[in-house]
Amino acid sequence: MKKINEIFYSLQGEGFHTGKAAVFVRFSGCNLKCSFCDTQHESGTFMSDNEILETISAYPSNMVILTGGEPSLWVDKAFIDLLHQAGMYICIETNGTHSLPANIDWITCSPKEEAPILLKQMDEIKVVYTGQDVSKYLKLKAQHHYLQPCSCINTKEVVEYILHHPEWHLSLQTHKLINIQ
Ligand code: SF4
Repeated sequence: MKKINEIFYSLQGEGFHTGKAAVFVRFSGCNLKCSFCDTQHESGTFMSDNEILETISAYPSNMVILTGGEPSLWVDKAFIDLLHQAGMYICIETNGTHSLPANIDWITCSPKEEAPILLKQMDEIKVVYTGQDVSKYLKLKAQHHYLQPCSCINTKEVVEYILHHPEWHLSLQTHKLINIQ
């Protein structure tokens, strides 16, 4: 059984897959306690793997985004295999501090300042920029490096930083800009 906070259908708002329709599976709980955490993830209902599959199969997109909280505390190889057998493409959004099953299709790592990153490889890194030193994240093995303003408040600052550090790309929380979940 896995503790699920919510399952909903929307567009991916951030990073490489921005604009794609996807089923979001939000797992409950996290191993970190970031002061700026704006996700309500603690509450939840226990669901079996098959119940989760049945719920997400009702939507037309085959892209599934496992998020949280911290989804890596819950997912295992058998769960990802089950979703793959149903033809789904599995993305995960993780803080990078906990190991992942090897069969996930797309890994987005959003590192948190004080938490050591365990993952050796990821597809994209997405860092919320608030003026901190982000150069260390360029050493992580990833195809894409995104910097994101904090709730669109400091977009100008992020644009200015990227103009001077073009190895970073801009990611906006587009779902907030167009007021969707
Ligand atoms: S890692 Fe993410 S979900 Fe967990 S406490 Fe920090 S911001 Fe919230």
